[in-house]
Amino acid sequence: MKNLSRVAVLASSLIVLSPVAKAQQEASGAPTTLTLDQLVDRIAKGESALIARMRAFRPIVEVYIQNLAPDPKLGTVPTKDEYFLGQFDGKDGPDLIALSHNKGSFSPPGILSRPFSVQYLPAGFAAATVPDWRLLDTQRYEFALVRREFVGEARTIVMDIHPKGDSAEGFTGRIWVEDRDFNIVRFNGISRNIDQKVSSFFRKRLSFHVDSWRVNVKPGMWLPAYVYCEETELSDKPALPRMPRIKSQIRLWGYELKGISSQGEFTTIQLDAPTIQDSSEQARQLSPVMSQRRWEQQAEDNVIDRLIRAGLMAPAGRVDTVLETVLNNLMVTNGINLELPLKCRILLTSPLESFTVGHTIVMSRGLIDVLPDEASLAMVLGHELSHVVLGHQLIDTKFAFADRLMIPDSDLLSTFRFRHPTSEESAADTKVIQLLAKSPYKDKLGDAGLFLRAVAANAKALTNLIQPHMGDLIVAGGQSLAALMQKAPELAPEKLDQIAALPLGARLVVDPWTDRLDLIRTPTVPLASAREKVPLAVTPLMPYIRYAEPPARANPE
Ligand SMILES: [Zn+2]
Repeated sequence: MKNLSRVAVLASSLIVLSPVAKAQQEASGAPTTLTLDQLVDRIAKGESALIARMRAFRPIVEVYIQNLAPDPKLGTVPTKDEYFLGQFDGKDGPDLIALSHNKGSFSPPGILSRPFSVQYLPAGFAAATVPDWRLLDTQRYEFALVRREFVGEARTIVMDIHPKGDSAEGFTGRIWVEDRDFNIVRFNGISRNIDQKVSSFFRKRLSFHVDSWRVNVKPGMWLPAYVYCEETELSDKPALPRMPRIKSQIRLWGYELKGISSQGEFTTIQLDAPTIQDSSEQARQLSPVMSQRRWEQQAEDNVIDRLIRAGLMAPAGRVDTVLETVLNNLMVTNGINLELPLKCRILLTSPLESFTVGHTIVMSRGLIDVLPDEASLAMVLGHELSHVVLGHQLIDTKFAFADRLMIPDSDLLSTFRFRHPTSEESAADTKVIQLLAKSPYKDKLGDAGLFLRAVAANAKALTNLIQPHMGDLIVAGGQSLAALMQKAPELAPEKLDQIAALPLGARLVVDPWTDRLDLIRTPTVPLASAREKVPLAVTPLMPYIRYAEPPARANPE
């Protein structure tokens, strides 16, 4: 009887659809209101479709975890980090295939030093993309309507759900369901399916809370893109003395590239027109110098193309142009005229790194995210420019041979190394200071130095963020760019007006379908307290939700 009365209450608050959805429903002859059962049925169908889709797609999944320690002034400070780059594999339930060097699992804890450390299993993070990998229906779950709410552009129905009876398995929390096609846009809570996999050590004793978001990539298709995990209050029944306090970001992208149509590693054919047509030269035999340049260009193109196909680099886009403008400012003011023009490209991953592949300067998304201003961006680009100006070797021509790139995606990060010998690094650091001194950024170098100080101060704790995949260390042993660091003031974590570095995700947003990047255009807000400064830190992920196609014109309410 209890259940019946519950349904009756909910049935009286029938879900009234938005004008848009109403028009669509009327056109198809369906009722304009839904009962709770009908709504839950639509949600369950949407989830089944999404789970089927996740078996077919193999997106890139990046997991970054920061362990935190309480700090009296700053709230918490990161003390250690963990990183995992993988590819989603949903064939037999959610799992991740490693793309980064630490295969299979995160760096295992030192046996003597940290006997109670948690060892995370990548599969657990893959599972955090869906509230329940079985079924979200009225047989297994209680649903209760909370309210209507806008999430970005989407009108959503907010519901609280929990497993029926005393079932220990399943998701407990809140879901946001958009009212056009009834897809879950966001879920927030705890899943005891996840928890078994997230930590093999704690099993059911410790559960990780997740705030998980989907993005509408194509009309009717929503896919998991962002998951934020946070465990900062671990006083609930501590099972072991050394429970971690963590914040973690999971990002997914590369869906189009790693979709249903691209079955194998090498089956994608891009029929773009060649971008460079040097017709004047084609009739003639190339000189040895020209042949050598062409050969190096071929190696560069091979590497860039392979990184894009692996889903590790963004295709050429407008953010590249922003970097190229800053680079150009440096070159013009220093009177640098290069025989071959330089381009900029962006790696989609978080670890802070930059490197040069032939005449392409590459920066990681994570590095661009945390740079506090244009002067510090100029410093990073200027360092790479210095390698070019000083005539350092810019590309290993072994990559001019096609077979060198015929390796699985999982071997790419261990194959590609674009580092320079220490002597070249210090030469480039000396040169960049000369370049910056003549540049439009010459009066703001204190900020660039401050950024280096922030990185250096965190280099011991955040070894995974500050450990590059392929390129140069931003701060090599505290020696690099010492002159710039000396110009900078002391780091003052409590000072609100001193921004040494931004949190992760502060500048760029990745389209999880196309891998294209865009700048986040949000006005800077004045910080309320030092706790909000969080340089290089993991913060909650709150994507702006919009429909892949704009909603049909509706009368304003
Ligand atoms: Zn370098």
